[in-house]
Amino acid sequence: MKQLESTSLVLLRHHLKALRLPTITAECEKLARQAAADNADHLTYLLQLTELELLERERKAAERRLKAAHLPTHKTLEGFDFGARPSVNKLLLCELARCEYIERRENVLFVGNPGTGKTHLATALAMAACGRGYRVRFFRLTELATLLMEARDERSLLGLKARLAKLDLLVLDELGYVPASKIGAELLFDVISSAYERCSLIVTTNLPFASWTEVFGSERLTGATLDRLTHRCQIIETKGESYRLRDAKAKMRKEGTAEGGGSSERDRPRRNALEGGETSS
Ligand code: ADP
Ligand code: MG
Repeated sequence: MKQLESTSLVLLRHHLKALRLPTITAECEKLARQAAADNADHLTYLLQLTELELLERERKAAERRLKAAHLPTHKTLEGFDFGARPSVNKLLLCELARCEYIERRENVLFVGNPGTGKTHLATALAMAACGRGYRVRFFRLTELATLLMEARDERSLLGLKARLAKLDLLVLDELGYVPASKIGAELLFDVISSAYERCSLIVTTNLPFASWTEVFGSERLTGATLDRLTHRCQIIETKGESYRLRDAKAKMRKEGTAEGGGSSERDRPRRNALEGGETSS
């Protein structure tokens, strides 16, 4: 009898492997013992096993999507201090995290000074989209421009564009830090026009629209890019001073109070640098 049981177990494992059901393979014996102890019927046992397999598949798929998105850090809306940034509407961001804008192929644009939370919010929305099963890719704009130019030189541009065309959400972070070259600007424009009404874009920028010509070079290209990007788009302004700067100032004020209002020689250059204005992030 024992011999028979172990033979069918070997066979069962073989079949489950052929059917690519690794979680059921790993859990079936333990759950069978549990089901026997609980007096559960066969269908309940089968239901439990298939549920475990599905859950594990979904977890692994979410992990793969998150990895493929290449997010710079993990940020969430829960970790964003909305009180410190009153120009950002919390309700709107929570609605965007539900990803209906992706279904409608709409865009989101974050505009504001360095350090005001644009990348944080873009990353949080990208994470939310991964969690809901969307294919997402995050790029710094300069990184994408370089990648496009390299692909063009290596004659692999079509392949790269085909991969981008499969995305549901493309995040372009930091539009405006380094003006792209003319070819880079044209390739970027091509990506943005191809994405138009086919996938959603999230763009972050510290540049007012009037200065976008610095990135795209020509008025014509800038106009056409803005036209596509801002058609059906939520524009969110992160007004105010840098969060890091605010944080650092608050910390120094606290340190200053703790020291009886004075500041040490060691801290003085740092304080001067902070009070002298923002540095780019
Ligand atoms: P930006 O992209 O606008 O330059 P970041 O999103 O990179 O700014 O923000 C700089 C740092 O400050 C990040 O570590 C970010 O998580 C944090 N930060 C910015 N704003 C907030 C906020 N309102 N609440 C919590 N953290 C914030
Ligand atoms: Mg940023």
